[in-house]
Amino acid sequence: MSCIFCRIVSGDIKAKMLHSTDRAIAFMDAFPLAPGHTLVIPKAHKKRIQDMTPQEVEEVFVMVHRMVARVDKVYGATLVAVHNGEGAGQEVPHVHVHLVPRREGDGAGPIHSMFDSKDRPETTDVDGMQEMLRG
Ligand code: 5GP
Ligand code: ZN
Repeated sequence: MSCIFCRIVSGDIKAKMLHSTDRAIAFMDAFPLAPGHTLVIPKAHKKRIQDMTPQEVEEVFVMVHRMVARVDKVYGATLVAVHNGEGAGQEVPHVHVHLVPRREGDGAGPIHSMFDSKDRPETTDVDGMQEMLRG
């Protein structure tokens, strides 16, 4: 088993565990971007949210709901983020929801600051997009 997060689920790699249910766990990120940086993952190896079962989605996001309230209370306003698959910037190919408390001067900003302004479309073809999303 080469996936780091599957190895954390199996106990093969140690992690600072915060919460566990049948299908989800929450643990501390080993290379935190801020104090309190927490990860919530499904126990099953799924690369993207759409690969998860509805039950897994429910348990993971109910755990996000529970953990973000605690992290936010202790560490302050918390960014919740998922890089959903390798093409979206995911490095560990196992779904994980980041809970990262924000701090003044941390260098992170609103979502628009993540993307190069030169590379943005002027508009979205709304009709075409609705047609695609209906499928
Ligand atoms: P990604 O870049 O895929 O969105 O996030 C992967 C996250 O996993 C990173 O924030 C990284 O610090 C964290 N991480 C990588 N290896 C380990 C590990 O062995 N243990 C823990 N607890 N976190 C890890
Ligand atoms: Zn995995």
